[in-house]
Amino acid sequence: MFIQVCGAAREVTGSCYVVEVGDTRFLVDCGMHQGGEKEFKQNFDAFAFDPHEVDFVVLTHAHIDHSGLLPRLVKQGFSGSIYATPATCDLVEIMLLDSAYIQEMEAEWQTRKARRAGRREVDPLYNQDDARKTIPKLKPVDYGKSRELAPGVTAFFHDAGHILGSAFLELRLEEKGEKVKVLFSGDLGQPDQPIIRDPEIIEQTDYLVMESTYGDRLHSHNGEPVKELAEILKEAKRSGGNVVIPAFAVGRTQELLYFLREILDQSGLDMHVYVDSPLASRATEIFRRHREVFDDMAWRLVGEPGGIFDFPQLHYTSSAEESKELNEKKGVVIISASGMADAGRIRHHLKHNLWRPESHIVIAGFQARGTLGRRLLEGADSVHLFGEEIAVKAHVHDLTGLSAHADQGQLLAWAGHFAPPRLTILTHGEPESALTLGKLLEERLHFNVMVPEKYDIIELGKK
Ligand SMILES: [Zn+2]
Ligand SMILES: [Zn+2]
Repeated sequence: MFIQVCGAAREVTGSCYVVEVGDTRFLVDCGMHQGGEKEFKQNFDAFAFDPHEVDFVVLTHAHIDHSGLLPRLVKQGFSGSIYATPATCDLVEIMLLDSAYIQEMEAEWQTRKARRAGRREVDPLYNQDDARKTIPKLKPVDYGKSRELAPGVTAFFHDAGHILGSAFLELRLEEKGEKVKVLFSGDLGQPDQPIIRDPEIIEQTDYLVMESTYGDRLHSHNGEPVKELAEILKEAKRSGGNVVIPAFAVGRTQELLYFLREILDQSGLDMHVYVDSPLASRATEIFRRHREVFDDMAWRLVGEPGGIFDFPQLHYTSSAEESKELNEKKGVVIISASGMADAGRIRHHLKHNLWRPESHIVIAGFQARGTLGRRLLEGADSVHLFGEEIAVKAHVHDLTGLSAHADQGQLLAWAGHFAPPRLTILTHGEPESALTLGKLLEERLHFNVMVPEKYDIIELGKK
């Protein structure tokens, strides 16, 4: 029995593990590398395994850094099932189709460039057809129900409280009479995140594979980010500036809507909110459909007129024309994807707002190295967008306290419920984050920790 770490090793994106038990070989997640050009290039590397020989995939949640290479896996011969919670299955469907469309557009653009330079055309990472072939392989499994996926492999999905449908996985593995329990944390949410439930607590596992995104940081303004967002809105209204928020279409956008509804309700502020992301609009529909995974507060709000995701000042734009019309607006809130501003319509809104001193840019989620969001957070004076230099005169606010990820304290608290596992493997974090968290787990909780490199193999069950 072994685990091979094939991504998200000393970095945040590209989550993917091979697990081998007896004759069974399966993947946990099959995510895309995101960030700058260098990170994205890794997606074209050959898989460390033969996709024909992968029996099935278990998916923790819908985010592209966990699911984004599934169509490529299918394109290269994978023919098994992909197990995930019902909400994840629905979200993955729209996300993979959207991602495939982006890959095609990107390849088309690269091809035009390549032709002009006398080079040959560029193939997309995968196309919409590959994504469509992936969808029927998704097999829903409810939270908390044990499911035997192969002889010697039983899985439970526990709520990870990160985004709708997100799970951490409890795997019970057995080979030649030897039994081990392995827990993959997926991405862990903050307790008290709106809409969804808190991460579940488990007390025992032999092996713990754990994320470390915020392993070296506490969220600033913990507990107060909503108040701060309210202040930003008031200030923007006063000065006639816009509030531009890059947000993941799935999860972050819906949470922001939840908070904005509350702020507008309580302050009586008359401000219009635009969700400018067709994917976010589709994802919101799926949130509406999956109330079964809402927390108590969200359930109560569901009963109110308009539900959670509709309030009088809220508008969803769909066409490119409607999106462009937003360039003329003043004193409005614009939520658009991508969440790290490395692609998508948000880049147009940043181009039109960054240079205006009266504008406010709100960074409300994790920003990977190499992304535009990260550069803004680090205080860049100017950035390049669409071949133009754009001065950064707008106020850039760090509201990562709104993040869907647990911070260092919350990760330690969650891990603290376990009796020390035989081995804890820290992934899904940049080196400083993973190593810092590792040190704290060793010192405070007496855990035995490793921070693997990409492609490291960890034997299971040998005492
Ligand atoms: Zn995630
Ligand atoms: Zn992730």
